[in-house]
Amino acid sequence: MTRRLYYEDVYLKEFDAVVADCRQADGCWEIIPDASAFFPEGGGQSGDRGTLTQSDTGRMVEVLDTRERGDDVVLVCSGPLEAGSRVHGTLDWQYRFDRMQNHSGEHVISGLIHSRFGYNNVGFHMSADRMTIDLDGEITEEELRQIERRANEIVWENVPVRTDLYTEEEAENIEFRSKKELHGEIRVVSIPGADVCACCGTHVSHTGEIGPIRIVSHVRFKGGVRMELMCGRWAYEYMTQLFDQGRQVSVLLSSQMPQIAPAVRKLAEDQNQLKGRIIGLYYEQIEQKAKELAGKGDVLLFADHYTSVLVQKLTARVMEETPSRVFSFAGNDEEGYKYAVGQTDGDLKEFVKDMNGALSGKGGGRPYFLQGSVSAYRESIINYFSEKAEGIIIESV
Ligand SMILES: [Zn+2]
Repeated sequence: MTRRLYYEDVYLKEFDAVVADCRQADGCWEIIPDASAFFPEGGGQSGDRGTLTQSDTGRMVEVLDTRERGDDVVLVCSGPLEAGSRVHGTLDWQYRFDRMQNHSGEHVISGLIHSRFGYNNVGFHMSADRMTIDLDGEITEEELRQIERRANEIVWENVPVRTDLYTEEEAENIEFRSKKELHGEIRVVSIPGADVCACCGTHVSHTGEIGPIRIVSHVRFKGGVRMELMCGRWAYEYMTQLFDQGRQVSVLLSSQMPQIAPAVRKLAEDQNQLKGRIIGLYYEQIEQKAKELAGKGDVLLFADHYTSVLVQKLTARVMEETPSRVFSFAGNDEEGYKYAVGQTDGDLKEFVKDMNGALSGKGGGRPYFLQGSVSAYRESIINYFSEKAEGIIIESV
């Protein structure tokens, strides 16, 4: 049986113990100490990490994970230490404190939601830099903002986080949140104004230590809501990233930070207007070219910067002005050319089949209007048409 030092003093970062047992396990070593400040996984919180050093030899092994097995705390280690030897354990304190901040923040949020809406936290997961909470009811964005605001006020109020132990019988008369049927000694964690919940995890002793609480996203999930939550250092690091992004955007837009959203909106509107004007200019160009080619013979047109849609428009518009064949190409020698070809009341299927064969192309469509692309040089395209369509007019747009 391992003495749980983390319940006696949750801030214990180093401790001394004796190795009660040490055995090889799957790719690691399992060391059972007679006392442990390393917290084993539980209540959605992952097991602690750190180092363990044998006092007489100075041999140090890494504690990769901590688990619970019956009454024992099992340290999953990178190597063995002698059974019966005295050891000194050191926690990876940032790892643990991150989890204390987040676990405590989760209590505040879940407790506030439970007391206001009656919803339960039915799924809790803690990853390397955030938590997810699944609620069994729906909450609006506005309501979540209010909960987040109240949760941060509770942090500012710096209220004490209390842990009380009850027997099963005593616990029957106490109101608290709990995910499962509890047996034996029951640990109840209370945060005045926010939460009362049965929990075996490690928590900060005053809410001020939780630091900022941030709900970073929420989506509908199984008839309720799944939200992502960050507290303390995790929230601070995340907000710092966002702040840096915001600052870069503000420099790019020459705009004050609090005004970057309207500035980006204006930029998007300007861009849309500009797009509209550019398309208008293309259409004018197409119109002019169609007029120039009215009633003329077969024509090969190069419109280098045209998109597939524009090259189709060009061909279609010229076709309205001439009964001859119209072949339009857009692109360059490096990336190849897109084409749109057509003839009012014509049938260019055979011609295009031959052209695709000669110019490494592919495409299709109706007999009177086909589109596709070729992987060929402009010179080869010109040579092909000069040979296959004698007297063809070759022009650029
Ligand atoms: Zn807890």
